[in-house]
Amino acid sequence: MGLFTSTEFNSLECLLVEQLQDLYDAENRMVDALPKMADAASSPELKQAFQSHLEETKGQVNRLEQAFQLLNKEAERQTCEAMKGLVKEGEEMINAKGDPSIKDAALIAAAQRVEHYEMAGYGSARNFAQRCGRQDIADLLQQTLDEEGAADKKLTQLAEASINQAAAHA
Ligand code: FE
Ligand code: ZN
Ligand code: FE
Repeated sequence: MGLFTSTEFNSLECLLVEQLQDLYDAENRMVDALPKMADAASSPELKQAFQSHLEETKGQVNRLEQAFQLLNKEAERQTCEAMKGLVKEGEEMINAKGDPSIKDAALIAAAQRVEHYEMAGYGSARNFAQRCGRQDIADLLQQTLDEEGAADKKLTQLAEASINQAAAHA
């Protein structure tokens, strides 16, 4: 969302486009951030989870480009201040020193904030698309929403299956 410029909405489709621009910026930021998260992770499974979500995220960028195309709009980024902040928090974990398993637990905590934020964004955007009669776009957004949900579950599973236990015994 633009913080310092006023935004005007005259239709739900305008709102949908604005939300897609925000998501497009957010996803592009994650394409840059996920390789750093993968490098910073010590657990091979966590590294793998970040790398495979990076590949999914590139596909999500592509889906947003398809959605813009279906709306006959240029794919444009509008700074997502929230994702900017979440990535900044992630960087704090990436640069942290200390026990590697605790650092892994911290990286997961940062990454799950991102996944939940994305889920909120895609859920709303999908609903707007449906309301605009754009089931084609709603379907694209739902596919990404499902991937974000699966990524979040995977992180919970890694945390609970091994990483949190290792961190507790560090
Ligand atoms: Fe994403
Ligand atoms: Zn945003
Ligand atoms: Fe994601």
